[in-house]
Amino acid sequence: MKRILVTGGAGFLGSHLCDRLLAEGNEVISLDNYFTGSKQNITHLAGNPMFEQVRHDVIDPFKFEVDQIYNLACPASPPHYQYNAIKTIKTSVMGAINCLGLAKRCKARVFQASTSEVYGDPDVHPQPESYWGNVNPIGIRSCYDEGKRAAETLFMDYHRQNGVDIRIVRIFNTYGPRMNPEDGRVVSNFICQALRGEDITIYGDGQQTRSFCYVDDLIEGFVRLMNQDEITGPINIGNPGEFTMLELAEHIMAKVGSKSKLVFQDLPGDDPKQRQPDITLAKEKLDWQPTVDLDTGLDRTIDYFRSVI
Ligand code: NAD
Ligand code: UDP
Repeated sequence: MKRILVTGGAGFLGSHLCDRLLAEGNEVISLDNYFTGSKQNITHLAGNPMFEQVRHDVIDPFKFEVDQIYNLACPASPPHYQYNAIKTIKTSVMGAINCLGLAKRCKARVFQASTSEVYGDPDVHPQPESYWGNVNPIGIRSCYDEGKRAAETLFMDYHRQNGVDIRIVRIFNTYGPRMNPEDGRVVSNFICQALRGEDITIYGDGQQTRSFCYVDDLIEGFVRLMNQDEITGPINIGNPGEFTMLELAEHIMAKVGSKSKLVFQDLPGDDPKQRQPDITLAKEKLDWQPTVDLDTGLDRTIDYFRSVI
């Protein structure tokens, strides 16, 4: 049994991680400012004596006695991270410094939720961890991409300079129950639009690609990375199944039986054209690979959205 801090514990991924860690018999503290997360994601845990929720902002220092820290606090959808860009980059950088400082004092192992966005608009495809990326440092996505890149730098420097025990995962687009229906990400947008019979909003020509990982697979990857002693990462965790946004829309509409029509809107600035994880390292080092295909994962996610919207 470990005492584990999860920053961003009330978010989409954080709440699933809390469930998993509690199911394994750990004591879990969720730290969240509820900017994009929701208490509803963790209400089912409220009566659990092994679970504690703390309202706090990762930008401000915090003090706990813990064995492990998972740092997930950061808005993840483009509309939300662009809403207050300065706050977003502060969250990544100050949040990393505060988690690393805590880890150093407690001698805790600390995990950073990094992102495929560190590869920017990649000109290497699929993306291996050795690729340094193609990121615009001054664009509208930079607050997120560069914040996450700076956080990786901080993690590596605390590791080299102070011996802090770190793990870094680069997460590729993940979906599943408890996504915020209003957060503007493509899977939640398309499912909610299809269920409501609204127009499906395709940005650009819809030929850009993403690779979608089901949340349970991702969390399995997190826990495997955190609980082995061989590698620190960065390591890609994602599902290599790659789809265009048009394919995704058609898939979702067919599943929902929706009569929505597709509407084409402007492509947001710096939107990556393609993205697919190279998961060779995760297979070799963590014996990890995704087990839930898009069909099954979408069915579960559609069922969830039917029950909440
Ligand atoms: P989310 O928005 O649902 O969760 C983020 C959580 O962090 C929310 O509960 C939010 O309230 C909290 N938060 C935000 N700013 C905070 C602050 N300053 N202080 C305290 N709490 C704060 O998003 P998610 O999809 O669950 O993402 C979790 C993490 O995984 C993020 O760090 C994100 O960058 C990373 N990630 C997610 C994906 C994905 O596809 N879901 C992909 C790459 C990386
Ligand atoms: N997208 C879209 N319609 C939407 C929302 C998103 O076509 O309603 C596109 C978006 O332009 C991007 C892809 O879907 O090319 C994935 O977007 P998301 O915001 O989910 O993730 P990210 O761009 O951060 O990978």
